[in-house]
Amino acid sequence: MVSLIGAGPGDPDLLTIKALRCIEQAEVVVHDRLVSDEILNLIPQGIPKIYAGKGCGRHSMTQDEINQTLVNLANSGRRVVRLKGGDPFVFGRGSEEAMILKKENITFEVVPGVTSGIAASAYAGIPVTHRALSRGVLFVTGHFKNNEEVDLDWKGMANPELTLVIYMGLHNLSMITSNLIKHGLTPSTHAAVIENGTSSHQRKCIATLSTLEQQVAQQGLTSPALIVVGKVVGLSSELEWFESLNEEDTPPVSATLSYP
Ligand code: SAH
Repeated sequence: MVSLIGAGPGDPDLLTIKALRCIEQAEVVVHDRLVSDEILNLIPQGIPKIYAGKGCGRHSMTQDEINQTLVNLANSGRRVVRLKGGDPFVFGRGSEEAMILKKENITFEVVPGVTSGIAASAYAGIPVTHRALSRGVLFVTGHFKNNEEVDLDWKGMANPELTLVIYMGLHNLSMITSNLIKHGLTPSTHAAVIENGTSSHQRKCIATLSTLEQQVAQQGLTSPALIVVGKVVGLSSELEWFESLNEEDTPPVSATLSYP
């Protein structure tokens, strides 16, 4: 049995109860780079943790190697937990892993997680929809190799009635903001970058399409980060709540609740 689990965006208390139960029953865990240490610390002692992240100078596995590892571990008869940041089916390649498991006749379950696009926005005071400001949300990837022909639907994305949430786009920030302006959004459209959203070291930059790149560079924001574009970003100062919380307002939920 393999449980494909979303670990949420960073704040360990955003883990679901189902995810926590699976982690507590795991016999081996395969995890990604974006899963926080606080969550890895919930894995019972003695349970092997296999790092399958990409980047950051650590040894990285190809997707094929990850798939094969999951298959081998499941066939060894152990309860496998595959732990991913955010939600496993939102830019997480969880569905590719599920397809391989299905093909190999291995039983699996999917435990959705809180995706960073919604949660990091909320922690930055940005509701992804708001009556009269946004009729919907587009979740898109901003990851493409530099200088490659960009095949995003810029015209569809440059819609002032929508909120755009762009994952993996920080490296292409300049190209993204200039294309959105070129395809019809005004340079004064509200836009934000949120780094390490929902974690205790969350940082954010609230600006406009024309000023975002410069302000992000000034603040030195890095990955993991999301770009959020649209009128709802303008609510961020009014709805800001996370940075103004005091320590005593937020005892860790894990310290106050015992899960059934
Ligand atoms: N499955 C994940 C997304 C994986 S793609 C999810 O549902 O959230 C990796 C990208 O997600 C990063 O490049 C970044 O754009 C975004 N991301 C993940 N965690 C984040 C966080 N805590 N703060 C900001 N962006 C985050």
